[in-house]
Amino acid sequence: MKELGLEILNKIYEYGYVAYIIGGYTRDLLLHKETSDIDITTNATPMELKNIFPDVYMSHDNYGTVRINYKNIRFDITTFRKEDEYRDFRHPNSITYVNDLKTDLERRDFTINTICMDKDGKIIDLLNARKDLDNHLLRTIIDADISFKRDALRILRAIRFAAILNFSLSDEIKKAIINNKHLLKKISYERKKEELDKIFGSIHAKEGIKLIKEFHLDQELELTNINRIKDYSDIVGIWAMINPSKYPFSSSEKELINKINYVYDFDNLDNFILYKYGLYVNLLAGLNKGINKKDLLSKYESLKIKTKDEIQITAKEICKILNKKPDSFIGEIYKDLENKIINNELNNDNQELRNYIKNKYYNN
Ligand code: ATP
Ligand code: MG
Repeated sequence: MKELGLEILNKIYEYGYVAYIIGGYTRDLLLHKETSDIDITTNATPMELKNIFPDVYMSHDNYGTVRINYKNIRFDITTFRKEDEYRDFRHPNSITYVNDLKTDLERRDFTINTICMDKDGKIIDLLNARKDLDNHLLRTIIDADISFKRDALRILRAIRFAAILNFSLSDEIKKAIINNKHLLKKISYERKKEELDKIFGSIHAKEGIKLIKEFHLDQELELTNINRIKDYSDIVGIWAMINPSKYPFSSSEKELINKINYVYDFDNLDNFILYKYGLYVNLLAGLNKGINKKDLLSKYESLKIKTKDEIQITAKEICKILNKKPDSFIGEIYKDLENKIINNELNNDNQELRNYIKNKYYNN
């Protein structure tokens, strides 16, 4: 991935511009952590980038980053900029493209996110951020209070980086979070969810949620049921426990969240509930109620069938035993067999099922 990133930088240079890898990639590289994407910063404007790369997506808002698909990997490229006055605590009124890297670095959020890599793979650290990285300290570039007033989403980003990187928050950031947390109400649920997804989906979800509670951000974020969470292993499980009304979820996420909440009110070690709603949903509901994971897994494993298709008798056999043509009675018989097998009243054994059907349904 790094090679591709450097290829892009070199390509931009060929056209007479400068470009650097910035942000998460260099930060995580120096911390020896895995990273998923590469952000690039350059003095080429989006229109100029369009000339360089055939596969460019321009975003529709003015703050947009250009996204390119280069050899099937996604790269976000942003033009060096200065952000003017901010409106709505999230967006600058206007942006001005600038020509120098340092000005661009100064409009960013945290020092550790300003370390760059140049086209030869050399680390460039204009704001002396390396010491914060080495000290595992999160600091804003400008005064934290001003920074968070400009863009309150940075509060959540601070929580995310502190949790995921296991960094300390500077005292200034801590104070600024408390002073400005009410501004989170002004941020769209979509943007907040993106950050929360990164927190809840990480192996450090527990630390992130602890910080959210510590700063009482749950109230500002309307995560009212946050204390229902007992298990931090799964992002959907976490969202299901919180079950917030205003955050956007896909229809499949919503369906899962509803199912988890539904089975939460039942006994997750009950054979029928386990069979009907499956392991995943019951596991998430159960773990958040303190049910032992091993007990749940072994109970699930002990189910004689996991789906209807595993019932050891075919519709054809049933018809033959009863000497009847297929009809709706088949469905009813299967339902009966399913219940009896799940409740251990019948073995899922072809001969046993045949006998049962003959005794119960023949001549009825
Ligand atoms: P990761 O990609 O691992 O989630 P990242 O630091 O790369 O972390 P991105 O959201 O990809 O974060 O943003 C890329 C860079 O853009 C950041 O490193 C930071 O320099 C800058 N940035 C992103 N969001 C903001 C913001 N809200 N305010 C200021 N700068 C930001
Ligand atoms: Mg990134």
